[in-house]
Amino acid sequence: MESIESLLVDKTSHFDSIPKQYSFEQLQEMTSTVILPYEEPAPSDLIWYERLQTKFDINKMHQFLEGGSLHDSLETLKLMQQIERDPLLTTNSSYYEYGVESHREITAAKIARLAQYIEQDAPDFQTFQNRLNLIAIVDPQLGTRIGVHLGLFLSAIKGNGTKEQFNYWAVERGAFKIKDIYGCFAMTELAHGSNVARLETTATYNIEKKTFTITTPHIGATKWWIGGAAHSANHTVCFARLISKGHDYGVKTFVVPLRDANHDLLPGIAIGDIGAKMGRDGIDNGWIQFSNVEIPREYMLSKFTSIDDDGEVVDPPLAQLAYGALLGGRVTMTISEEEG
Ligand SMILES: Cc1cc2nc3c(=O)[nH]c(=O)nc-3n(C[C@H](O)[C@H](O)[C@H](O)COP(=O)(O)OP(=O)(O)OC[C@H]3O[C@@H](n4cnc5c(N)ncnc54)[C@H](O)[C@@H]3O)c2cc1C
Repeated sequence: MESIESLLVDKTSHFDSIPKQYSFEQLQEMTSTVILPYEEPAPSDLIWYERLQTKFDINKMHQFLEGGSLHDSLETLKLMQQIERDPLLTTNSSYYEYGVESHREITAAKIARLAQYIEQDAPDFQTFQNRLNLIAIVDPQLGTRIGVHLGLFLSAIKGNGTKEQFNYWAVERGAFKIKDIYGCFAMTELAHGSNVARLETTATYNIEKKTFTITTPHIGATKWWIGGAAHSANHTVCFARLISKGHDYGVKTFVVPLRDANHDLLPGIAIGDIGAKMGRDGIDNGWIQFSNVEIPREYMLSKFTSIDDDGEVVDPPLAQLAYGALLGGRVTMTISEEEG
């Protein structure tokens, strides 16, 4: 049996066997005069050449695919160009070499940039929506992350809250323009995913203080997988069982502040990071536990079910109506899960 050392020596001797009759200068000259039998491929030239061969009208095809007017399809091209040229929003192949920390930092900077675009596009939300549709293609994790705030957090407030509540959180508190409030969507629990009706987090009404106490009764009720919770969100829409005067009224939605103005966790809130994921490291999915967290009565989203000062609960004539409003969130969840 040969020793490792002898094999190594063998290898060295193999290299040693390269003829030594040529000087370094001679070798240099030889290699510089070698003519390759083919031209080195230049992908950008090739693709440009192929595009020139196209037999159909590219602008018309673009318009057809966009499905709108020529004007609209050109607007989409302009938005795309803006994304490509924006040093913060653009992506390149090195993107895939970043670690979790860098992805999180870059995504946060990109969200700040998108907040500037919302301001610029306002009051025309359609342009911003078109921008987001393109972002979701160019940078899916950024699309999902902003989608959690606008599509899950704000949509849940819109779907389950009164007009006044939506106006308060979206406009007065600035969530719509990603100012001051950045939200997440705390529906899923460790022991309850698809079965939303069996969620176990509780929101117990306190008649004297006119507040709710939000509690995670045991580890299985820990909010789990919550996008944006680990680092960025300072508020959440929390799905919890409404308990008043000892009666359980089923799962309703509550806006719960998670972090203060310094971005420190508020008393009673425990949050952790779920960690790295394949392909979506820019999204900070986390877990949340609530230990007797108090929120004002008005933070229960009351479009369908309402509660008065004395803890009297008024459910809609059809309980399904209230669950219907939760569907939007679930559907958006499914779509964003497909993406992220
Ligand atoms: C990347 C990612 C991001 C997420 N972000 C969020 C977030 O921001 N906020 C949030 O609240 N949640 C989030 N979730 C959680 C997500 O909502 C749940 O994963 C989802 O609801 C499914 O729950 P589960 O994982 O517990 O699976 P389960 O409900 O345990 O389901 C496991 C399997 O059983 C099947 N199954 C379940 N019930 C039935 C039934 N009755 N009949 C037949 N088959 C059934 C399911 O189809 C599935 O294949 C995220 C998940 C992922 C993967």
